[in-house]
Amino acid sequence: MIITSKKDREKLLETLTDYDSFFLVGCSECATLCGTGGEPELAELKELLEQSGKKVSGTFRAKTGCQVLGTKTELKPMNVETGDAQAIIVMSCGAGTQAMVEAFPDKPVYPSNDSLFLGNMTRYQMFDERCSLCGECIIDQTGGICPVTACPKGLLNGPCGGTSNGNCEISPDIKCAWVRIYDRLEKINRLDDMSKIIKPKNWSKSQKPRVLSARPQKEVKEKK
Ligand code: SF4
Ligand code: SF4
Repeated sequence: MIITSKKDREKLLETLTDYDSFFLVGCSECATLCGTGGEPELAELKELLEQSGKKVSGTFRAKTGCQVLGTKTELKPMNVETGDAQAIIVMSCGAGTQAMVEAFPDKPVYPSNDSLFLGNMTRYQMFDERCSLCGECIIDQTGGICPVTACPKGLLNGPCGGTSNGNCEISPDIKCAWVRIYDRLEKINRLDDMSKIIKPKNWSKSQKPRVLSARPQKEVKEKK
């Protein structure tokens, strides 16, 4: 899931000074789990805007904010509320915010959140970054632990010389990713993998912007 945090509310209000009325869009997926775009946050921002003398023409929580067509369809019955707003505030990740740029081509769209990383929820509203979306997964060779993300140096063959008492030299409060990989490989009886050199990655696979069609090629051709 995409991990987001709320922008500083004072600064957010400063960026909105040119407008008097807003429509607020949240997201039922990641942003709700992060506590940045669910019903309580929609209500909280609505109250804050109203206390600041602004009008909120309506609020809406998309099923999946980054799903462009689905969200546009969901918004159709809300023509009046969205029409009354001078600007849209989106309480989701950057992808959801840009979906709303498509849904509202004639209105300014503002994000209320900062998008931080792709994360795993370990406990309620506690998130760990475990994958950097590098485009070429190599964790089959590292016991299922990602050194690209878990090692601050992103070392494909580790550990570096700075490991101290099993902890990382860059972030001493975390365990060295390569010590974790060693422990894991030992546990699953794959310690031999530690001595195999992982070849340099093809970083062109993480070159932005990336696009993907997951549809069968036949279907894509037919739609052209
Ligand atoms: S190797 Fe790449 S794709 Fe695999 S978990 Fe790490 S960052 Fe993600
Ligand atoms: S101590 Fe371990 S996790 Fe930290 S930079 Fe070196 S190899 Fe990476």
